[in-house]
Amino acid sequence: MKKNILVVPGDGIGQEVTEVGKKVLDAIAKKFGHEFIYDEALIGHVAIEATGSPLPDETLVKMKASDAILFGAVGHPKYDNDPTAKVRPEQGLLKMRKELGLYANLRPIKLFDELLDASSIKPEILRGADILFFRELTGDIYFGEKGRKNDGNTAYDVAEYSRFEVERIARKAFDAARTRRKKLCSVDKANVIETSRLWREVIQKIALEYPDVEVEHQFVDATAMLLIKDPKRFDVVVTANLFGDILTDEASQIAGSMGMLASASIGDGTGVYEPIHGSAHDITGKGVANPLASILSAALLLDISFGLKKESEAVINAVDGVLKAGFRTRDIADANTPAASILGTNAIGEEVLKRI
Ligand code: NAD
Repeated sequence: MKKNILVVPGDGIGQEVTEVGKKVLDAIAKKFGHEFIYDEALIGHVAIEATGSPLPDETLVKMKASDAILFGAVGHPKYDNDPTAKVRPEQGLLKMRKELGLYANLRPIKLFDELLDASSIKPEILRGADILFFRELTGDIYFGEKGRKNDGNTAYDVAEYSRFEVERIARKAFDAARTRRKKLCSVDKANVIETSRLWREVIQKIALEYPDVEVEHQFVDATAMLLIKDPKRFDVVVTANLFGDILTDEASQIAGSMGMLASASIGDGTGVYEPIHGSAHDITGKGVANPLASILSAALLLDISFGLKKESEAVINAVDGVLKAGFRTRDIADANTPAASILGTNAIGEEVLKRI
């Protein structure tokens, strides 16, 4: 298979971990006889420094022309501490999602058995948890009208959803449920919020097309509690942009560390694959960032954008092998991990490559 992959490392540790993710794609291409052609582009703070824009036109053109995008992270402390900055790295991310029509963010939450003790949740509650989140990405309070009134003393953000936006993500989520345990939980706040009432109405309608999938509707507050109390009860979860943003970070703790979780943003065009963590400037340049989320993002890319299931599994098995051998990065090590088994970004990447 011949494919064009655009590598967009972005800022901070995005640069360090994406480099390793790319090496893993290369190793897969060699082993399975594929040809992956790479190009690279700027986004975020590095793009602002170089061009003045967080998403330069050149990057967007390259993104639209590629078959899949391996993405790092955007962000810089300079902007985090200055809420008044007009140009911000995150604008690049939001614009990319809009321009590429990336309306669904998929986050598989599955704990490798070897990391059961790295989570703050009890192992007996966690063992066997396997959740696939679908977070809507292009609507909701993030994109509606926003502003200030009453001389700046009152602020508002309008949440909006249209029927078609809910329908298209619902179909993706139902399709995925069919390939898993055939359970779908739709999360909303339909007791108080009008967009949630539309959300629930649409899910109920689409559910008629999937009689083999068991559907439940849950309020977001109850879901937040149940994710910690009994994560095993969930299979596929589908929810709106804001609820999904919060619930998926909560669920990341089920997997032990931000450094372990991959995500895919998909729509009708090029898909973007990225770790869920940010640019982590507290550890940038130290060579300690965990690259496994970027490597697992590469596995998602192979599976979802290229349909290469065997290759994707080879990556996941290699990560599993590295963890079984006892190797850890600092963020997933515990008091019992011998110092010699705590590896840096590149060294743990090499262990994954060896096993591929
Ligand atoms: P963060 O995810 O960058 O870091 C949170 C904590 O987790 C930090 O202590 C960090 O050291 C640790 N961590 C994260 N990834 C790790 C890894 N791979 N290995 C080891 N430790 C890891 O979140 P933050 O500190 O809230 O934000 C930092 C910057 O990233 C901000 O500018 C924020 O806006 C941006 N951000 C970007 C994205 C994105 O690009 N998708 C997502 C979240 C945050």
